[in-house]
Amino acid sequence: MLHTGTLANDTLGLLKTLIPFLYSILFLFPVNVPAQETAHYFRWPVDGTVSLSANYGELRSNHFHAGLDIRVGGVPGMPVYAAAGGYVSRIVARPNGYGRAVYITHPNGTTSVYAHLHTFAPALEAYIRAIQYARQRYTVDEQVAEGALPVKKGELVGAAGNSGSSAGAHLHFEIRHTATETPCNVFSYGYYPLPADTYPPVIRNVAFFSFRQQDGIPYTANFYEHSKPPRRIKQTIHVPATFYIGIDAYDAQNGTPAKLAVNRVLVTLDGATVFSCRFEDIPFDAVRYINSAIAYEERQRNNKVFLKTYIEPGNKLGIYRDVKNNGLLSLPDTLPHAVEIKVFDDAGNVAAAAFTVQKKTGNPASLPAPETAALITAHDDRPTTIVKDGLSVAIPKGALYKPAGLFIDTIAGKPGGAYSSLWRIHTPETPLHYAMTLKIAADIPGTLVPKALIAGMDGSHTYSCGGQWKNNAVETSIRSFGDFFVTVDTIAPVITPAFAKGANLGRQTQLKINITDDLSGIGTYSGYIDNEWALFEYDEKNRRLLYTFDAKRIRRGRQHRLLLSVTDNRGNTATLQTAFTW
Ligand SMILES: [Zn+2]
Repeated sequence: MLHTGTLANDTLGLLKTLIPFLYSILFLFPVNVPAQETAHYFRWPVDGTVSLSANYGELRSNHFHAGLDIRVGGVPGMPVYAAAGGYVSRIVARPNGYGRAVYITHPNGTTSVYAHLHTFAPALEAYIRAIQYARQRYTVDEQVAEGALPVKKGELVGAAGNSGSSAGAHLHFEIRHTATETPCNVFSYGYYPLPADTYPPVIRNVAFFSFRQQDGIPYTANFYEHSKPPRRIKQTIHVPATFYIGIDAYDAQNGTPAKLAVNRVLVTLDGATVFSCRFEDIPFDAVRYINSAIAYEERQRNNKVFLKTYIEPGNKLGIYRDVKNNGLLSLPDTLPHAVEIKVFDDAGNVAAAAFTVQKKTGNPASLPAPETAALITAHDDRPTTIVKDGLSVAIPKGALYKPAGLFIDTIAGKPGGAYSSLWRIHTPETPLHYAMTLKIAADIPGTLVPKALIAGMDGSHTYSCGGQWKNNAVETSIRSFGDFFVTVDTIAPVITPAFAKGANLGRQTQLKINITDDLSGIGTYSGYIDNEWALFEYDEKNRRLLYTFDAKRIRRGRQHRLLLSVTDNRGNTATLQTAFTW
């Protein structure tokens, strides 16, 4: 028995050793699951020909797009169906993010996600509404036990819409690995047939970035950009000793005007691969590394998004496959060398651009002179604390992607209403992966202390960064560098109903009320109709509260009293008392 146990342990040990290896093989050579095995497991969540406005891996602000955006004709209402059988495992209603969303867990180890819904199917609507009324709160994010809401393949889930942080009606659809919650590229797994795609991707821009280090701090500069990259080698680019490449590419598919994401990028130097990556299985806790994967400065300055070949030391993304020397290219001599860039879409269509590169003799490309004396060196692999008179900044380990020289000082231009100096905490052109803790000392009259907050200044625009009063300073967590000062918010939100007092709304389905706040933002709200709590949905992007008339809860054909109160994040409250007929 003992012997058998040892053998079993050995086998287990060997398996454990092999798993990462097998895993890497799977990633390098995605298994093409035979069509007949999967083609019938999932159905599309909408009827008709599927056309996409976004796909997996799109380079978005602070994240990679996690699924497919399915076009629904530009208006809310298209029926959405369960992609396969299973059970509703999570149901969400919130003013931002995915808005109204349904998660269905399937027996094959996947979970499908349907987001930005306009409405839920009646059974789901009843389920979530009961929770909302019980808690007297619109926002719900509820895990649902298996057995409570079983779903058959093709059963109605709801109607596609524009709820949450959505810029137009569409269905955001994902398939996740249930165990890890990591969204996958459904086409790499063969879960769906590829949409018609006879077009190759387009390489829109190629940038060459020079790279050098001084005192361990890397300095890069964009020294070359080609808006129509040559398919064939016909141009020699004079490069510094060490450089990397930035690629701006998109994919086109039949039947959609959308510029979609490419699936794979490959760079070769004299025919040998120096960089490759594939947009696959990006876990949610890694999506923010996009700020290291792209040329972030370039995006902040010029709103251009280049995927870099250079992998910074603090970049923990798993998209990279075959990368030499962290993607930095160095030429061994002053002879001409060939660089080729290839991008592939999900269907395997390819676009290529080729360049001849030659090492510059004499002075390398000009770079901004590092002013190390004025800067504070911070590192990616250890925390940094900076204390100055009236200021403290704590940057955690891993918040930076590479060592940086930080500029931190007071600057002129303190705005009216400031109770502290105006502090420049480096520049928003440098990304922060984790939040820094910022403390700014302020001299505030005691009565105003509960109203104090840290505000950021972006040109003439002031925005709240929140914070708490501690030891004569306001302390908060901020995930971007910039200019900051302490101010107070003493102004209540503004409530503007979209109807006149006493109006007859008998033909309407919803009550609409606009709410805005000047600085700290909407914190809480509550609405009562005829003294009963009423379910007002907060639509954050449109700064609006919506109540859908519900004949089960208010009596038709009468005048009703409405009492609404809205409080901002500094405790300033506005109330509205009005009446309407419905
Ligand atoms: Zn989406």
